[in-house]
Amino acid sequence: MEDLVIIGGGPAGIMAAITASANKKVVLLDKNPSLGKKILASGNGKCNITNAILEEDKYCGDKVFLKKVFAELDNMKLMKYFEKRGVMLKVEGFGRVLPVTETSASIMDCLSDELLSNNIAVRYAEQVLEINKNNEGFTVTTGRGSYETKNVLISTGSPAYPQMGATADGYKFAEKFGHTIIPLRPAIVPLELNGNWFHKLQGVRVEAELLIYTKGKEKIYNGELLFTKYGISGPLTLDAALYITDELKNNAEVFINFLPVLKEFGVAALSAAWDYRPEKPVFTFLSGFLPKKIALILLPLLGVDLAKKCKELTLKERENIISALLKWPIQVKGPKSYKEAMAIAGGVSTAEIDVKTMESKKVPGLYFAGEVLDITGESGGYNMQFAFSSGYIAGKAIKNKN
Ligand SMILES: Cc1cc2nc3c(=O)[nH]c(=O)nc-3n(C[C@H](O)[C@H](O)[C@H](O)COP(=O)(O)OP(=O)(O)OC[C@H]3O[C@@H](n4cnc5c(N)ncnc54)[C@H](O)[C@@H]3O)c2cc1C
Repeated sequence: MEDLVIIGGGPAGIMAAITASANKKVVLLDKNPSLGKKILASGNGKCNITNAILEEDKYCGDKVFLKKVFAELDNMKLMKYFEKRGVMLKVEGFGRVLPVTETSASIMDCLSDELLSNNIAVRYAEQVLEINKNNEGFTVTTGRGSYETKNVLISTGSPAYPQMGATADGYKFAEKFGHTIIPLRPAIVPLELNGNWFHKLQGVRVEAELLIYTKGKEKIYNGELLFTKYGISGPLTLDAALYITDELKNNAEVFINFLPVLKEFGVAALSAAWDYRPEKPVFTFLSGFLPKKIALILLPLLGVDLAKKCKELTLKERENIISALLKWPIQVKGPKSYKEAMAIAGGVSTAEIDVKTMESKKVPGLYFAGEVLDITGESGGYNMQFAFSSGYIAGKAIKNKN
C-alpha cells in the first residue's frame, strides 16, 4: 500500500512528490516518457517559473483562495527554494523570473535530483485510466497495472498543447467523484480577427494597448502585439485573450491603441514630427512612433492618400489620423484552439477544495493541484507559480497526515 499516488509529473505533481516524500511512500505516474514537458517549454525554453510581482489580479479564479495559497508558498519562497538548491535566478522584463542560465534544464535537473535523492518511485509512460475508492483508500489503474494507495493527488494539468501529451483526464476523474467542472476556455492564446487588413501586417510587432469596453467598464492591457495571418498574437494578446474571450459574450468592443507612446511624449511630439517634414510623404511623420508598415497599411484604410505630403493634410485630417490610431476597432472572432493555448481556464471548482490542504471536500484522501483546478494566470510565470504552490500545499498536508 502506497501513502500517495500522484497522477501527473508537471510542476504541481513534482513539488507535491518531493514535499510529501519526507516521511511518506510516494509513487509519481506520468503518461509521458519524461516529466515536466511544459516546464521545459515555459518561457520559450528559458523556464519562466514565477513573476517578481505576484498579484491575485493576474489570475482568473477565486482570489481569496489564491491569497491563501500564496500565503503558504509565494514567489519569494519559490525563488529561495531554487536558489538554495543552486539554481540562480534573475528577473527580466514584465517581472518574469528565469534561471540565469536561461535554460529550462537548470530547473528540471534540480527537480529531477530532488526526486532521485528523496527515493520517489517515478513511473514513466504510464497513463492512469481509472481511480476507484475502496475501504482502505484508492485503487489507481493504469495501462500497465494497478496501485493501492491511501491518498491520490490529481495533478494532470489541462489539455492545452495536446501535442505535449496533455490530457483532459483530470476533469473526468474529478467528475466521477462528484466534483463540479467550471467550463473550460483556452487562455494565453492567440486571437482570430474578422476583417481583411491585419494579414497584410503579418509578422509586424508593435508596442500597443488593447482596450476592452463592456457595458461602461474599461480594461486596458499593454505590451507587445504581433500580427499574424489570422489575427493577433504576442505577449499583449496572450495576456488579454482570456478576458476578451469571456467579455465577448457580453458584446465587448475591442480596440488597439497603436500610440501608447503619446502618454509619455504627448501629441505635441507627433505634431512636431509632422511639421518637421512638410515635403515628405504623409506616412513618414509616424516613422519615429510606429513600424512603418503599420502606417502604410492603416492610413489608406482611413482614406488617406499615401502620396500626399505632410503639409497637404488639414488639421482635421491630422486629428482624425491620430484619434483613429489611438482607438483602432478590431472584430475579435475568438481564441485559437487548445492546440495553441498555453493554458486553459476553468477546471475543478475551488469551492470544493480545502485551500489549507488541497484535499477534496467531497472525498477524503483525494487531492488536486495545479492547472486542473479552476485557477488560471496570465502569461509571465503565474501558472507555474500556482502549480508549484498548490503542489507544495498538497504534499505538505499529506506529509503531515498520520
Ligand atoms: C508552450 C507552453 C509555454 C508555457 N509557458 C509558461 C510560462 O512561461 N510561464 C508559466 O507560468 N506558465 C507557462 N505555461 C503554462 C504552464 O506550463 C502550466 O500551467 C503548468 O505546467 C501546469 O502545471 P501542472 O503541474 O498543473 O500540469 P502539467 O505541467 O500540464 O503536468 C501535467 C502532467 O500530467 C500528465 N498526465 C495527464 N494525464 C495523465 C494521465 N491520465 N495519467 C498520467 N499522467 C497524466 C501529463 O503528461 C503531464 O506531464 C506554458 C505552457 C505551454 C504549453
